[in-house]
Amino acid sequence: MDNKPFVEAFQDVNTRLIDLVGTLSALRELSGFEVTDHDEERLLQGALQVVADNLELDSVGIFLQDEAERFELVACLGCDAAEKENADAAQAWMKQQARRTTEQFAQGIKGALIDNDEVSYIGLPIQASQQLLGVFVACHPHSGFFTVEHERSLIIFCNFLGQLLIKNRLLHDMEKMVTERTQQLQEALEEAEHLKERYATLSVIDELTELHNRRFFFPETQSALARAIRYDEPFCLLVLDADNFKSVNDRFGHGVGDNVLRAIAELLREEAREADIIARFGGEEFVLALPETDEDGGKVLAERIRLRIAGLEFRFAEKDFGITVSAGVAALQATHSRETRHALEELLHQADSAMYYSKGHGRNQVNRYSDIACKI
Ligand code: GH3
Ligand code: MG
Ligand code: MG
Repeated sequence: MDNKPFVEAFQDVNTRLIDLVGTLSALRELSGFEVTDHDEERLLQGALQVVADNLELDSVGIFLQDEAERFELVACLGCDAAEKENADAAQAWMKQQARRTTEQFAQGIKGALIDNDEVSYIGLPIQASQQLLGVFVACHPHSGFFTVEHERSLIIFCNFLGQLLIKNRLLHDMEKMVTERTQQLQEALEEAEHLKERYATLSVIDELTELHNRRFFFPETQSALARAIRYDEPFCLLVLDADNFKSVNDRFGHGVGDNVLRAIAELLREEAREADIIARFGGEEFVLALPETDEDGGKVLAERIRLRIAGLEFRFAEKDFGITVSAGVAALQATHSRETRHALEELLHQADSAMYYSKGHGRNQVNRYSDIACKI
């Protein structure tokens, strides 16, 4: 009996079984691909390696469409020969086949483009939701190499590849979006922080003179005073008020008055020490809190300031004019309240009284509360 047909049939079934096992192995390997590797070319190169190994193909490539709808070879195996000329020729040939496959896809022809003439070639579209993403191509130096089994296996492979690409791109886009949004949020937060700092500064700074205002003065002075009370250290307050300031405004205008206030502020900054707290309390009234300074020290500083201010020369509309200040000094005594807030109120009241005493006794002078207390 001629058993040749049986042998041929067996061989055919055997070959198909081997092909099927190859396809299944490729798919199993591909399904384990992590899409966390966002580099598309690396992802495709890995996929090519899997299909080339399992389906025993030696010259394979993937072309992807770029933004200008041009096809670029992004991954290949077996077509990057050591001799550049050969590699270029192989790739150019592949590209030509890829173009043909695209044209076929555009015409709505499903399946692969198989050309088994001199050199065998198979081209398949890589698509997702009817959208062409790229083309898979494989070549073989012998004619008649590619079979329907190859086509079936590679169609499954290309569909899988399409899904892989879409998933990867989606993930990549999402990650990009999250990074962008995070950056925007970070910038907005920094801006808000910056504004917060700026408003916090503005709220304690007097705009005209850039000295601190009352809002800053009270908490700062209270903590300095609390330390002085606790450690029994000297502490002194100085209240200064510009004399007849209204007449400066009346004679030379508000703008000139403002300049005079700025000049006084600058001079106070120059005379005070680092630890001193200087504040503009109101219109033309300034208060200095002087830690570690007794009443004598406070008076010496106040006198120095008074003399320097009296020596300032201002000029407006070719008229020279000057300004003087009246001041009052009060120092922390054992008789003051041990409670900081009350002690500060008492000190302020006393320094103010001494300042008003100066006003009432000819202005342009400094008085200590301890000296005038018995006279008021
Ligand atoms: P005294 O010697 O008794 O203190 O007289 P004075 O004129 O200085 O005091 P008064 O309280 O009568 O007037 C204070 C003036 O200070 C009136 C107000 O217009 C002026 N003033 C208050 N704030 C500002 C300011 O920011 N800029 C200017 N240019 N003037 C101010
Ligand atoms: Mg005044
Ligand atoms: Mg005043």
